[in-house]
Amino acid sequence: MISEVLAAMPSRNSHIRPNDNPDITAERVKATFDTEALSSIIYGGPEKLNRRREIAKYVDDHPEMKDPYPTDFMTREMKLENVARKALLWMEHAELATDVGSQEEGFHFGSLITGIDGHPLAIHLIMAIPALLNNADDEQLDEWLPKAISRQFIATYAQTELGHGTNLSQLETTATYDPKTQEWVLNTPTITATKWWPGNLGKSSNYTVVMAQLITNGKNYGAHPFFIQIRDEKSHRPLPGITLGDIGPKFGMNANDNGFMQFDHFRVKRRAMLMKNAKVLPDGTYVPPKHPKLGYSAMIFVRSAVVGLMSLHMAQAATIGIRYSVVRRQGEITPGAGEVKILDYQTQQYRLFPQLARAFAFRLAGVHALTMYNTIMKQVNSGNTDALADLHALASGLKAVATYQTALGIEQCRFACGGHGYSLASGIPQIYTVAVGGCTYEGENMVLLLQLARYLRKRAAEMTSGKGPAEVPTPLAAYLFQSSPKHSSIGTPVYAPNGEFEGVLQTFEHVSRRLTLTAYAKLQKLEGSGISTEIALNQCAVEWRRASHAFTRVALARIMSGILEQATDQGVREVLEDIVRLYVYYEVGEAAAELLEDGFVDASQVEFARQQVYDALAKIRPNAVSLVDSFDLSDRELNSVLGRRDGNVYENLLKWAQASPLNKDDVLPFHHRYLGKMMTDAKKASKL
Ligand SMILES: Cc1cc2nc3c(=O)[nH]c(=O)nc-3n(C[C@H](O)[C@H](O)[C@H](O)COP(=O)(O)OP(=O)(O)OC[C@H]3O[C@@H](n4cnc5c(N)ncnc54)[C@H](O)[C@@H]3O)c2cc1C
Repeated sequence: MISEVLAAMPSRNSHIRPNDNPDITAERVKATFDTEALSSIIYGGPEKLNRRREIAKYVDDHPEMKDPYPTDFMTREMKLENVARKALLWMEHAELATDVGSQEEGFHFGSLITGIDGHPLAIHLIMAIPALLNNADDEQLDEWLPKAISRQFIATYAQTELGHGTNLSQLETTATYDPKTQEWVLNTPTITATKWWPGNLGKSSNYTVVMAQLITNGKNYGAHPFFIQIRDEKSHRPLPGITLGDIGPKFGMNANDNGFMQFDHFRVKRRAMLMKNAKVLPDGTYVPPKHPKLGYSAMIFVRSAVVGLMSLHMAQAATIGIRYSVVRRQGEITPGAGEVKILDYQTQQYRLFPQLARAFAFRLAGVHALTMYNTIMKQVNSGNTDALADLHALASGLKAVATYQTALGIEQCRFACGGHGYSLASGIPQIYTVAVGGCTYEGENMVLLLQLARYLRKRAAEMTSGKGPAEVPTPLAAYLFQSSPKHSSIGTPVYAPNGEFEGVLQTFEHVSRRLTLTAYAKLQKLEGSGISTEIALNQCAVEWRRASHAFTRVALARIMSGILEQATDQGVREVLEDIVRLYVYYEVGEAAAELLEDGFVDASQVEFARQQVYDALAKIRPNAVSLVDSFDLSDRELNSVLGRRDGNVYENLLKWAQASPLNKDDVLPFHHRYLGKMMTDAKKASKL
């Protein structure tokens, strides 16, 4: 009855339905902004939002696309079969449900059907096809791309080996050119040369991009990409000379058959080498690439895409945590006034709302990085590689920081759900185990921050040599060349667009500039003491990591504050200001030690920032459910009993547990063999 009355009340939240838990409906009716308007901003306009929903409805209307029962109760073999079945449905229905030219629609449709724990086409779509696009020459593309897109084969991307992932120069798989037969001989000379980890290699793929040391005319030219068939197209058995298998269960992504692969002098034609960049002529002559970094562009693309993916995972976890926190009541704030919703505790808000703000930041950053990737790759393809260094630096920093903060943020959301957060029914453990993989794949995070540090080292050398912003063609780092004000203006208005936050942004820029120069000065001092640059770099690597993080903080905060320009609706603008305020001042708290270190910020300004965070938490509180609703994640996408849109958590937790195969029968078939026997024997032996 209460829920019907509440549901009938006018509200700016479009997610209210009859029979919802009244506690969650009561939150939704309080919305001070139009959730549809915010969803439109998040998804790039009302048309895209509408398409998302049409696709979700299409999936809902096809019960065969559902899991027969929760995958949490399935063995690994069952998971692989279930997801292979669904991948086939995805492809059979793709043209009916989506615009096949739209990556975004394809990804949404696919993830609605397959879920997030992996699927057999994951690496084909996100790595193998981009690797072909960036490394195959026109003739090779004509031969392979149409077949790849129409999925006449499934390909993976095999780079990592048992012994090496990060250090590509030491990969041991060899591809030796034989000019007599005009073939490559692929070989795995040692155990550590075994390819290990490639997604979908274990059981699903029949082709692969493989990175191997290219040896021709007796000389090793380093790791290069090749595209080869690895399984028979009919029998699906490994081709003679290739050993393949699954690497076993992992921390997460267990619906993905990450695999291993060994070659025993396996021969492929000369044109198996991807020849857009470097080439080998029929006589074995090596022709180097025009730009040594061109081959890595597929990796930059994936790193940018990972940032957007992290936004999805952070939004999923924040949605679950926040929705659950308004239906969970525990303890009193005012004695005798009754138990409160746990979201009313300031500590609960402090745990959850910053994760929500970061979900927004990573969404914007992912879009920003992919837009920049597309623009710069067009320039690169017409011969201009000037901006490639900026792109690489930005993608490396964003990927490292977004994956790390997402992993920590999801854990905060799980803690915030108490005991039920620990149950797989919450959905959060799976989100965590999937997201945290992002800290390692596509470039281990620490290593990426050190790569970004190399870029910063060049900028520091330019800064100390007296160059000004106009002389350096790097828009991303232009602020490094400007001088800092004497003192941070946090707490005093700055007259600029988004003036309230400009003082914080300039403060972050100051820290980035200072930490870059500090790391550089340390490096120079160490070099001056007579040790090699490499050893010196290692001795100040933690300082460079700090500089890289500070640099990425600037990029993220600038991108995040840009969201305000997109808000035309007054209510939406106000709530986004609360989110941006929380985001930037929470970052001030996180970076407080670095801000205070040189006196640029004083203690009263840190206190001011803290108060801004508390004020933002209180302002966001009434809109919290409506904010997460604006991410428009369906129950299917959340896959969480705690995060259900209707808030009917407890009865569904019970149903979920009852679906466990353990509960099929009251007595387990082996009970009497062991525990029953133990108790019976003990009774018999007892003299009592
Ligand atoms: C879920 C998942 C999916 C994957 N999918 C694929 C795939 O599809 N295809 C594929 O080829 N690979 C894949 N990988 C492998 C992945 O790319 C590598 O694991 C990753 O690049 C890290 O390399 P590594 O394992 O050698 O780590 P290591 O480099 O051994 O890292 C171990 C530690 O050493 C540190 N370290 C290493 N080098 C340096 C350095 N130079 N300076 C400072 N510290 C250093 C790291 O920071 C880290 O702390 C996947 C991995 C995972 C977890």
